[in-house]
Amino acid sequence: MFSIPALKTLQEQINGSTPADVERALRAVHLDHACLAALLSPAAEQYLGNMAGRAAEITAQRFGKTIQIYAPLYVSSFCANRCVYCGFSADNDIERRVLSIEEAEHEAMILHKRGFNHILLVSGEAPAKMGTDYLEELVIRLKDKFAAITIEVQPLTTDEYSRLFKAGITGVAIYQETYDRQTYETVHLSGPKQDYDYRLDTPARVAKGGMREVGIGFLLGLSDWSAEGLAIGYHLSWLRKQFWRTAFTVSFPRMRPAEGEYIPPNPVTEKQLTQLIFALRIFDQDVGLVLSTREEARYRDGMIGLGPTRYSAGSCTAPGGYANPEYTGEQFLIGDHRSIQEVCQAIRGKGLDPVRKDWDACFQRSDDQPSAKAA
Ligand code: SF4
Repeated sequence: MFSIPALKTLQEQINGSTPADVERALRAVHLDHACLAALLSPAAEQYLGNMAGRAAEITAQRFGKTIQIYAPLYVSSFCANRCVYCGFSADNDIERRVLSIEEAEHEAMILHKRGFNHILLVSGEAPAKMGTDYLEELVIRLKDKFAAITIEVQPLTTDEYSRLFKAGITGVAIYQETYDRQTYETVHLSGPKQDYDYRLDTPARVAKGGMREVGIGFLLGLSDWSAEGLAIGYHLSWLRKQFWRTAFTVSFPRMRPAEGEYIPPNPVTEKQLTQLIFALRIFDQDVGLVLSTREEARYRDGMIGLGPTRYSAGSCTAPGGYANPEYTGEQFLIGDHRSIQEVCQAIRGKGLDPVRKDWDACFQRSDDQPSAKAA
């Protein structure tokens, strides 16, 4: 099982980096964790322009002039957990709903008509309201309409991931929220999510279950961003060693206003977010980097071609909100309100192609075996 060095150790590694270490990292072909620490360090701030150039070069080489487009589809806002930072927390008195299969299918078809070929099914973590049976039935109905259907729901077992992969789910996003155990305990007040180790082991269970893609991330604002960035670098390289056939993505959910009005103890600036994205792109040349509509249009447009490889668009974070825009009960407020057409136009304006499909269903045979190198 993966274990992470203590936050203090990570911070020492970062703060001990010198300009010479940053220059070495910018020249290196294969980067180690010391290189990543240097790129995340205060010493790297003066090299942000060089990092942008290197990140853009790598992104163009590995991904071409493309950005993948997807939309989240919220199917349930019920949650058994009390996470202090989230609008769906069981503590909050919001309008909650779980979509019927028919309602979820209707939402998906609205997105399909708008031009989306990749949808991310999202829910709060309440297995009694929305579980594996629901997801399996929904994906069986939708899989012929979409090139990729991924999920961001409660952690499941390896067998459940395997079952959902066979049904047609292509990938899973599961975020640790924070790699710092102490902070993790402070912000998760009750519910199954309090189990730090079970959550940390979830990306490995996803990969063992045979999913083609695993998305990891942490919530920017809970703890020191650079130490979290180094922690996710350790996690990513461990996962790559164990599951060499699996594709990985990293997301950068920066905390947004939400019901409960939680104030992030370690707010992350755009400049720090940018340094983090560049550092991870340079550290792992093949990892997909996801920049969602949490960020404002101005910032997302500025980052096109510099590292991110996947953008959401036209998002709504309330279940049923595509068919019923008047619905409230959002998980958080988004920063980029543009339609898919407007986002695609901005991408084309920067000389890149928006790609609405990154997956051929013919590769996903029901007899595919889990991709674990080591069980
Ligand atoms: S972050 Fe996830 S688990 Fe926590 S309250 Fe929100 S939906 Fe529930």
